[in-house]
Amino acid sequence: MTSLLTCKEFLGWLNEYLDETAAAEIRSLVESHISTCPNCWVIHDTTKKTLQVYKGMEPQLLPPEIHNRILSLLEKAALEKRAAQSD
Ligand SMILES: [Zn+2]
Repeated sequence: MTSLLTCKEFLGWLNEYLDETAAAEIRSLVESHISTCPNCWVIHDTTKKTLQVYKGMEPQLLPPEIHNRILSLLEKAALEKRAAQSD
C-alpha cells in the first residue's frame, strides 16, 4: 500500500485534483484516500458536483416568478415615491 494522505493533506490537494492539474502521483494519493475514507469521499463528491454545476452554468436570468416579483416591488416602490413627490 502506498502512503496515505491525512484528511488535512487530502483537503489541501482536493482543489488541484478536481482541477485536473495535479500530478499523477497526487491523483493516485487522493484517489486512494477517498477510497478508504468515507468522509473525504463525500467531501470530494460534493465539491466535484458543485464545480460541475458552476462550470456548466450559463449566465442565467432569475426564474420568471422571482423576476416578476422583483419588478412589481420596484414598480410599487417607484409609484410610492412618485406619490410622495407629487404632494
Ligand atoms: Zn479523509
